[in-house]
Amino acid sequence: MSNAPAHSAPAAGNASFAARWRGALMDNYGTPRLALTHGEGSRLWDADGNAYLDFVGGIAVSSLGTGHPAVVRAVSEQIARLGHVSNLYIAEPPVALAERLLGLAGRPGRVFFSNSGAEAVEAAFKIGRLTGRPHMVATEGGFHGRTMGALALTGQPKKQEGFGPLPGEVTHVPYGDADALRAAVTERTALVIIEPVQGENGVVVPPEGYLTAAREITRATGTLLVLDEVQTGIGRTGHWFAGQAEGVEPDLVTLAKGLGGGLPIGATLAFGVAAELLAPGGHGSTFGGNPVACAAALAVLDTIESEHLLQRVKEAGERLRDGIWRLGHPLVDRVRGAGLLLGIVLTEPRAPQAQQAAQDAGLLVNAVAPDVLRLAPPLIIGDAEIDAFLTALPGVLDIVDTASGER
Ligand code: PMP
Repeated sequence: MSNAPAHSAPAAGNASFAARWRGALMDNYGTPRLALTHGEGSRLWDADGNAYLDFVGGIAVSSLGTGHPAVVRAVSEQIARLGHVSNLYIAEPPVALAERLLGLAGRPGRVFFSNSGAEAVEAAFKIGRLTGRPHMVATEGGFHGRTMGALALTGQPKKQEGFGPLPGEVTHVPYGDADALRAAVTERTALVIIEPVQGENGVVVPPEGYLTAAREITRATGTLLVLDEVQTGIGRTGHWFAGQAEGVEPDLVTLAKGLGGGLPIGATLAFGVAAELLAPGGHGSTFGGNPVACAAALAVLDTIESEHLLQRVKEAGERLRDGIWRLGHPLVDRVRGAGLLLGIVLTEPRAPQAQQAAQDAGLLVNAVAPDVLRLAPPLIIGDAEIDAFLTALPGVLDIVDTASGER
């Protein structure tokens, strides 16, 4: 009999995971930083028993933290009752979730459910194709996912390397520049896709009025405006959708990440003509609209409402942002972002080292760019947890501040 542990056997430390993963998993993100075993709220534990404050949130996914009772209950009840129906049938949770999302958008429309952000974007890409127009516009530095259509829209050449030819005739324009957008969009342009905040590019915030200008520009040419809210949607910025801060009404909205509170789900919301372009059977997915994922998402929306988390995100985001700024640390150039999607911009490209030093100090943060630490904690993060983060941060930054000895 083999002594090899069953796949469900308890973990035997970070080192044991590190030795095992390389033989079994594709090396797509480099060496994993930690093997995590469990969590509670905004805390996580690793395989060596170390505890961490979770300021990564599964990259803006764990909107209610880990193990939120509302999500646990919704998932348990739904998987016991009806776990899957395929796309041949329908069940209550996807219908209820679609109705809720359209209600939050405040407009009639239709929803396509999938399983990830890239798939949500891919659906928008295909809907764009159905306009019959060949051209699309996206932004430099933008990130929309790794499937082929989403990758074509992604404005980070390094991520596209080796995967060409990519579909579509895509122009990438500088992010936040309304004039460049106006110059690129014509009546041949099917869609323009924009993130309200560029998350993967380092939490880059466009100038005020940019999304409004994009709406005017696209309306003038009959071009669809897609807001990619995979990272910014569902409360992350203190609004249901970040585009609502400017009152912008896009033709399509893509969602994923925080929507499922940890379960895989993607959603493409379509309004007006965009909602009518897909013919029956024109696009689909076996798992899209899965009742368990949809039940989890409904629990997330219910909890955001019942716990008044949109207002809480605004307050918590301000406390965190002001708190970091008030530390006055010489390595902090500025803090940018919206709500609880924040980027600490460093004066030197020391973010990877800061991420490691933070981890060693029990804080999980993400070096999203060489000089930017991204913070995307659970929306339920408490003041005491924010304050604990603020107390520990200066020591972390001191460790990696190469110039500190000279001051
Ligand atoms: N769009 C945006 C704005 C994203 O931030 C991401 C993920 N970082 C994606 C799309 C792709 O989502 P997924 O990884 O779930 O495919």
